[in-house]
Amino acid sequence: MLKPYLKSVRDYISRMRATWTVIPMLHSIGPADLTGITPNRSLNVSPDLLEAFVAAARANRWAFISLDELADALAAGRVPRRAMVITIDDGYLNNLTAGYPIFRAFNVPFCIYVTTGFVGDGRRIWWFDLEEALLEVNSVCLPDGKTERCASMAEKVEIFNLVKCQIMSHDHRIRDRALEWLHGFSRTGGGCRDSGRQMLTWDDIRTLRKDPLATIGAHTVTHPVLTSLTEDDARFEFEQSKFVLEQQAGGRIDHFAYPFGGAPEAGPREYQLARESGFRTAVTTTHGVVENADVNLFSLRRLVFTENLYGGAAAVVGSRDIRRRFQRGHAVASRSRSAK
Ligand SMILES: [Zn+2]
Repeated sequence: MLKPYLKSVRDYISRMRATWTVIPMLHSIGPADLTGITPNRSLNVSPDLLEAFVAAARANRWAFISLDELADALAAGRVPRRAMVITIDDGYLNNLTAGYPIFRAFNVPFCIYVTTGFVGDGRRIWWFDLEEALLEVNSVCLPDGKTERCASMAEKVEIFNLVKCQIMSHDHRIRDRALEWLHGFSRTGGGCRDSGRQMLTWDDIRTLRKDPLATIGAHTVTHPVLTSLTEDDARFEFEQSKFVLEQQAGGRIDHFAYPFGGAPEAGPREYQLARESGFRTAVTTTHGVVENADVNLFSLRRLVFTENLYGGAAAVVGSRDIRRRFQRGHAVASRSRSAK
């Protein structure tokens, strides 16, 4: 099962430089759901790909380290060479059921960033409610009252992105109206597939916490666009998620991931709030690698890790510099192959 992935992961890893520390960013770890809407599907990585990736990285002498080890090394003025820190956002149940057995089998440290408001049986995330409701209907009456067709997948993706933009709006009236609309739509308009439990419970998190391989990090209380909040409300998201996780999971919570995490959703004010709330590190979703020890520990960049590795590395990678290096690596790899 792993074979189809091995060539592509070896190729992918061979383009990474030995002087880098790479922080791969994952979300859901489960079988590929080919019926899903593309934006959500891209959040998933199959267990086979994850296992092939870990095996190939090990075979190429990459070391998997924890966030604490990375923070310690950077504090000592050193970037760990050929190192990777696995990070997983949101707190999906399949991180425990499908991801954890692989991390344990390969002795790989990992960090799960938990959104405390998502923890528990029956908790659902709006982007999956929206997807599932849209899959059930051929037309939809939108928050602004207009009725739109959404029979084809392309139309569903368009509506999905439109409503997503409204829910992520900095204007709280647009945001509240869209969320209220979704609440009604997902219950009456589209109906919902019963897809079972989706998120980790506190018991699951305590189980993970007992394993020294697992780091539990914070990912806010409500998964908001932090830059859209007042400073007091944003500060609450940092401090309360840290406090609740420390109460429920025990021990210190030292690491944070900004929801959505790109430049529009996390900026200098958020970096400062993460620092003031007592975190040691905070990760963004801006694409990049750790190359310098004087990097800001509160705006660490990551490489998105998706089912399509080159979608992650080449197409989605926002940093032109990193993209160029991957392409250059590819050119070198092709030349050496054709030379054989
Ligand atoms: Zn998230």
